[in-house]
Formats: sequence, C-alpha cells, structure tokens
Amino acid sequence: MIGELAALPGVTRRDVLKVGLAGAGAVVATGLGFEIALAESTKVKQNLRIAGAKESHSVCPYCAVGCSLVAYTRQNSDGSVQLLQIEGDPDSPVNEGRLCPKGATAMQLATSPRRVDSPQYRAAGARSWKSVSWDFALGKIAQNIKASRDATFVATDGNGNVVNRTEGIAFAGGAAFSSEEGYFATKLMRGLGLVHLEQQARV
Ligand code: SF4
Repeated sequence: MIGELAALPGVTRRDVLKVGLAGAGAVVATGLGFEIALAESTKVKQNLRIAGAKESHSVCPYCAVGCSLVAYTRQNSDGSVQLLQIEGDPDSPVNEGRLCPKGATAMQLATSPRRVDSPQYRAAGARSWKSVSWDFALGKIAQNIKASRDATFVATDGNGNVVNRTEGIAFAGGAAFSSEEGYFATKLMRGLGLVHLEQQARV
C-alpha cells in the first residue's frame, strides 16, 4: 500500500510514513485525497512527544549494514539535552526507515541503566567482576598477549618448515568494523603471528 501511495504525483515515501498506515488506508478507502490525510497527520504529530524536537541523523553502530537513524532531542530549560526517541531514517536508501530488532533498541545505548560504561575485570580465581580504568585494562591485555604469544609461538612445523605462528590466541572482529578498522586489525593480528581470525558479519 505504501508503494502505491508513494507513486502518487508529489507524494514521497516519507510523506506516506508520516501519515501512517491508518491515514494511508483512509486515502484509499474514501478517496478524500492525500492533502486531507496529510492535514490529519500533522494534527496528530502536534501531540507527539517529538513535536518540535531537533532531528539529528546518525548511523546504527551495531553492524556493517549501516542503517541510518534519526535521533530526536530537546533542550530543557536548564540547558541539558534530552534524548526523546531514536528511529529509522525514512530517507535512507539503505534501510528506508526500517531497523532490525537490534537497531530498534539503539536508544538504550544512551538511556539504559544497565549499560556498562567502564572496563570490567575478574581476576584469576575471583568470583565477581570489578570496574577498572582503561589504562589498567589495556595494560592487562598487553601483558596477556605477550605471555600467550611467548608461550605458544611456533617457529617451525613438524617438517622443519618456517611458519612463525601464534597458536594460543584467536581474534574475533566486531560487525561494526569499518573496512579500515578491519584492515588495521588484520594487519596487527597477522603481525603477531595469529592464524585464527574470525569476523562476526563476514561482509
Ligand atoms: S544492527 Fe540492524 S539496524 Fe543496525 S545496521 Fe545492522 S541491520 Fe541495520
């Protein structure tokens, strides 16, 4: 139905999405014309909590599909900025307003009280995690990489061939990697001798 309405002269897909399916149905059923439905939708929008909000465009951080987002914010009287809503950008040629379930929860990245906002560390033998600084976490990662590489580095295989590989470490890339980040990570890991590289999205 949206496709049929968007094909009307002067009617964009964004207009149709603004009207909503109920309004769009009224156009088809009654033949009253798009202007009336659009006027109705404008009246509804004035009551929405995003009315008058600032629109900021961004990209979903979860995977390499790169769906576009619109974030609605409002400045409070005390100067603070309140995030009201995040939804798919209907003007994007990538996702045309749609988001998968993961992207649809993007707002929780900013608002969820369960969001972890510092590195977590569980010492060997400990039963619980504790928050640590980034300096501590990066230092610990570097120490563990060095120790594992030294302990598992294989210079030659059983036939005497030079292989220079680190068999005790594997690397898994995230799907939000850009091409450049993927290239850099692969270069770094291959430089350390890793052979076990994997990537979540494989795109
Ligand atoms: S996680 Fe979902 S919404 Fe986000 S970019 Fe990937 S497909 Fe799009």
